[in-house]
Amino acid sequence: MDLKGSITGYTELVGLMAYPIRHSNSPAMQNEAFRAAGIDCIQLAFEVDNSTLEDAVKAIRALRMRGSNVSMPNKTVVGQYLDKLSPEAVLIGSVNTIVNDNGILTGYCTDGIGYMAALKYSGIDVRGKKITIVGAGGAATAMQIQAALDGVAEISIFNVKDRFFEAGEETVRKINANTSCHAAIFDLQDHALLRREIADSFLLANATGLGMKPHEGVTWLPDVSYLRPDLVVTDTVYAPVMTRFLEMAREVGCRYMNGHGMMLFQGAAAFKLWTGKEMDIERMQQALGILLPHF
Ligand code: NAD
Repeated sequence: MDLKGSITGYTELVGLMAYPIRHSNSPAMQNEAFRAAGIDCIQLAFEVDNSTLEDAVKAIRALRMRGSNVSMPNKTVVGQYLDKLSPEAVLIGSVNTIVNDNGILTGYCTDGIGYMAALKYSGIDVRGKKITIVGAGGAATAMQIQAALDGVAEISIFNVKDRFFEAGEETVRKINANTSCHAAIFDLQDHALLRREIADSFLLANATGLGMKPHEGVTWLPDVSYLRPDLVVTDTVYAPVMTRFLEMAREVGCRYMNGHGMMLFQGAAAFKLWTGKEMDIERMQQALGILLPHF
């Protein structure tokens, strides 16, 4: 019997703690990456919400798991149960990856790291430039803080005046107080301001859920006259692969990318934290049936 590749008594475990979580493609991605790298580790998804989170984190120590991914509704509350937080996790106020080093649990946030890595992979260098990001929720905050930490010069944030607007104001305060980047937030309904800020931006990002099911075919961008061919346009959404927002960018001739790169590279960053190794991005694109752009 050939037991090569089998789960044995030595196999290490990382978790994925969230609720709901069964739909996630993270375990398939991480397990393929472990296999490809010949690392004897597996990821399993666990239905964990805020009521069971503290016990679940204790289990990471008790079972000597290598760590875990964390998603909603646990990302913003899990920090209190950990021993240490990385600088970006502190500023973003969110943890999506836990690493267990001999019982010491450290929380990281790889969402923004993944976004920045996806840009770099595609040949886009945003350092020293001005960018505009629409959104002030979880994905947007991670992207904005990481962009500021990674050397973007100026970030204009737009959001509708909903419950997330205050979070956006807090992000602006944090960026301006803790980084050399200058940030400002504006009302997304103010189209004159939106046009002005996009006009001298190098990159425009959608970090809202508009365009994603059940909001397919919808975007906050009034029309294509706000875009120009030398603008880089990115969307966090990847289902559908082409949102209305990205279709408009394609129409104008912009370089554009969907959320596949961010999704893949946030996983690659977690993989590196657990294993010390680079995820094989080309192989993972094949496995996931996706193709990241190169400009
Ligand atoms: P969230 O709920 O934390 O934030 C939602 C954001 O959308 C807020 O800024 C909110 O104001 C805005 N919004 C909601 N309705 C709107 C409307 N009608 N008009 C304008 N803005 C509106 O969500 P999130 O976790 O930040 O996720 C946002 C999107 O990013 C989702 O589509 C999610 O799937 C995607 N995402 C992708 C990745 C990736 O790896 N590619 C990672 C995280 C999130």
